Amino acid sequence: MTDISRDKPVLVTGATGYVAGRLVERLLAEGLTVHAAVRNISDETKLKYLNKLAEESDGEIKYFSSDLLINGSYAEAMEGCELVYHTASPFTSKINDPLKDLIEPAVLGTKNVLEQAKMTDSVKKIVVTSSVAAIYGDNADTERVPNGIFTEEHWNVSSNAGHQAYSYSKTIAEQAAWKISKDQDRWELVTVNPSLVIGSGINPDGTSESFSIVKKLGDGSLKSGVPHWEISLVDVRDLAEAHFQAGFNKKAKGRYIVSGHDSSLLQMAQLLREHYGKAYQFPNKILPKSIVWLVGPLLDKNMTRKAVSRNVGHPLRIDNKKSREELGITYRPLKESIVYFFQQMVESGLVGK
Ligand code: NAP
Repeated sequence: MTDISRDKPVLVTGATGYVAGRLVERLLAEGLTVHAAVRNISDETKLKYLNKLAEESDGEIKYFSSDLLINGSYAEAMEGCELVYHTASPFTSKINDPLKDLIEPAVLGTKNVLEQAKMTDSVKKIVVTSSVAAIYGDNADTERVPNGIFTEEHWNVSSNAGHQAYSYSKTIAEQAAWKISKDQDRWELVTVNPSLVIGSGINPDGTSESFSIVKKLGDGSLKSGVPHWEISLVDVRDLAEAHFQAGFNKKAKGRYIVSGHDSSLLQMAQLLREHYGKAYQFPNKILPKSIVWLVGPLLDKNMTRKAVSRNVGHPLRIDNKKSREELGITYRPLKESIVYFFQQMVESGLVGK
């Protein structure tokens, strides 16, 4: 039971990110002061979206230069904060070296931020943005959980640096967070574990992997079909609310799966087609698993044969009950999230007709 004062600043790491943007917006709407920790404090193209939010709200933003890989670089930003949101972590498929590009920033960054909190007397609560990737690695993992439904009880035990490296990075980063939190008793740790985040961001040119996945559904690259790959999704604004509640609701405790809908690549495309008709080349059929297994790795280095075998055709069910009951989250309809997201990409020129 941790009471967080609204008179104290709130730290958001990775404030330039897609997920963080809507969280900062939510905090500013409450009139809070946000300490925005960003990697490049001179990057006006990224900061302009945050500045606009601050101008239009009663809240205030103060920027701090911080890097996940530089120990001590969150000290100034954390000073005086009771609540810390740790969202910064790379989410991209454009990687050369899983260790350097994903695992080290995720794990060392989490340790850096949480160890800093041990040395910062004002901190009372840390909300870490983890992922459902720390709950399961592949859809086939449903076979090892009761009723085939993932809950907050489950941990990803199938990923490693050579298979689903992003999921592995999120798993060991969250495990490191729980370990560090147990070494002290001044602050409480809560994790938010979202599924794939979609919906319009504050920045239409986001670099999060969320953009690449939804963009591909409409830019023609998947026009011949998609694998039968089930995927769970959450709107970025619902996720911001979940972060807000995880921070300010004093009953929030433990891990929270934040996921609005169990869906699939084909269903996502169908919802877009219902709205846009034939204006874009949305996929409208399922590719046979054998073809995906054979050709997938040639087209996309992340789609390994092991990933195809363990995900395509396997059902995915995720239980969001804890977030609904304890954080009071009401998830918006999937069609609304996906259409607004795609529309934002159309308007920004990311997807052409
Ligand atoms: P994003 O837009 O790429 O944001 C990532 C943030 O991390 C950016 O602000 C980035 O800063 C920062 N960052 C990366 N490396 C850094 C470093 N070495 N030092 C300091 N900052 C660094 O991705 P996102 O989708 O918003 O992801 C945010 C969080 O949500 C991540 O923890 C991710 O794992 C989690 N998550 C995302 C999804 C999803 O579907 N999007 C789902 C589940 C969980 P720059 O702007 O300087 O690059």
